[in-house]
Formats: sequence, C-alpha cells, structure tokens
Amino acid sequence: MAAVSVRLGSIGPHWTAACRYAVTNLNLLFRRRGIGVALALHGAGPVISVVTDPGILGTLVHGRTSAETDGGGRLLRAEVRLPVRLTINTPNGIREAGIGMAEVVAAHEFVHALGHEPHNSHLMAQTMHKAMGDRPADDKLQAGAAAMPPLQLSDQSVEILKGIWG
Ligand SMILES: [Zn+2]
Repeated sequence: MAAVSVRLGSIGPHWTAACRYAVTNLNLLFRRRGIGVALALHGAGPVISVVTDPGILGTLVHGRTSAETDGGGRLLRAEVRLPVRLTINTPNGIREAGIGMAEVVAAHEFVHALGHEPHNSHLMAQTMHKAMGDRPADDKLQAGAAAMPPLQLSDQSVEILKGIWG
C-alpha cells in the first residue's frame, strides 16, 4: 500500500474540514475498490500541498492541480489550488457552499494529483452542477445521475487508479 501525504496550508477552517472529509472518504473508497494507495494528513510519502488561490473564482466547482510524476505515472509531488471561498447562489443571495460540496471539489483535485488526468464521470466529471440543499450541509454537486457527497468513483476511474497504484 503506497502512502501519500496531504499537507494543508493556511486554507481556513472550512477547507480544512472539507479536506479532512475528502481524505477519510477517499481512503474508504480506495480500500473498498481495491486501489493500493492511502492518503494521510501530514503523513509519509510524496506530498500533495493544498493552498487557496484568490485567482480561482469561488463560483467555479474546480480547483487547479499540477502534479509531477515519475515514468510510471506515480506521484512525486503535487500542488492543489482551491478557490478561497466556494459559493452557491440561493434565492436569498450568495452564500458559502456547504462542507460536503467543498469535500467533493477537494477530492476531485486529490484524485487528479494521484495521476488521474482525464475527466470522465462521477467524481471525475468535467461538468458538475451545484444543487442547493435546504441547509448548507445538504448542498450537493451533481455529475450526471450522481449527486455527491457521498463520493463516487466510476469503474473507469477505479481502473485508472489501479493502473497507477496497483
Ligand atoms: Zn478536473
């Protein structure tokens, strides 16, 4: 089992909580689907550094990730950039998106950092729509028929990750 470290910069309590959920729930998914990598906050192994970037609009549902890999596609180091504040439009105006929605955005970028380059479906869909919950905790990102959280990886994404991490 390969270990990868997620190192959180000064990203604020909201993103910190969302990234913790993303790490926990991606690990559960990886274990259930037999993908040989585990993330740990400030753990061992190559590092995914997480920062916020004022240049990324909070209205978007994507961050930006750059990853350096070895010849086998394995991670050497990566940087994940997230919008400073993730927002959602509501009938009462714009508010900060719930932790769950932020978890999906962070998890998407972490999976890119692990070497999953293409966009396909579920967690790794190119296009996701914000679905407002009755309360922020119930906000979802909708990718096709998949409403997340909970995080969902397509069979194709599982194969891509197994191809890199075993
Ligand atoms: Zn992406």
